[in-house]
Amino acid sequence: MTKLISSVCKLCRREGEKLYLKGERCFTPKCSYEKRDFAPGQHGRTAGRGGGKGMGTGRASDFARQLRAKQKARRIYGVLERQFRRYYDTAITRRGLTGLNLLQILESRLDNVVFRLGFASSRAQARLLVTHGHFTVNGRRTDVPSMLLGEGDTITVREGSSKLSYFKELGAYTEKRTFPGWLNRDIKSMSGSVARMPERAEIDGSLDEQLIVEYYSRR
Ligand code: SF4
Repeated sequence: MTKLISSVCKLCRREGEKLYLKGERCFTPKCSYEKRDFAPGQHGRTAGRGGGKGMGTGRASDFARQLRAKQKARRIYGVLERQFRRYYDTAITRRGLTGLNLLQILESRLDNVVFRLGFASSRAQARLLVTHGHFTVNGRRTDVPSMLLGEGDTITVREGSSKLSYFKELGAYTEKRTFPGWLNRDIKSMSGSVARMPERAEIDGSLDEQLIVEYYSRR
């Protein structure tokens, strides 16, 4: 478990910023980025924040900046390269802005929706809960975290799972968590639904989808 924690936190240090991959821990002094805000493999703060691989201050090449923007989004959503590329290919085929389409696809993943609704403290935890079959989508049990949800889709904590202590105690935590306007949530029935696709302002403003589009356009 220690190994898992440190490897995840290493991603923040590599990107030179906090990616909030560990849920509540990220907001406490235990956050390892707060203690070691330099890239993995370096032994001090000479590179400083933003000193991750390929990101020299102001001098990063266009390609390096595009690569970092793509890697950052991939790490935040916990998506492997091949799947991320598939999302991009799908985004191109949709109407509208490719970058926004890509972000909307990422946001509509089942694990992300579980996280956004406050049923898990991180996307990694949401992924685990989904993999263990604790949710239904439109009444059917699923264990596929990458399932893409659309307008009107409903997710619910499975009846059998709601008896587990994790879900019994979840209500108090979830109540404190805000959720975005493109989702509906009912804590009493431990369910939520997709009202519409998210607008750009409702997605992480630190993501630079234009750089990601540029990264794939040149390949
Ligand atoms: Fe680890 Fe979260 Fe801190 Fe990143 S923000 S270093 S994931 S605790």
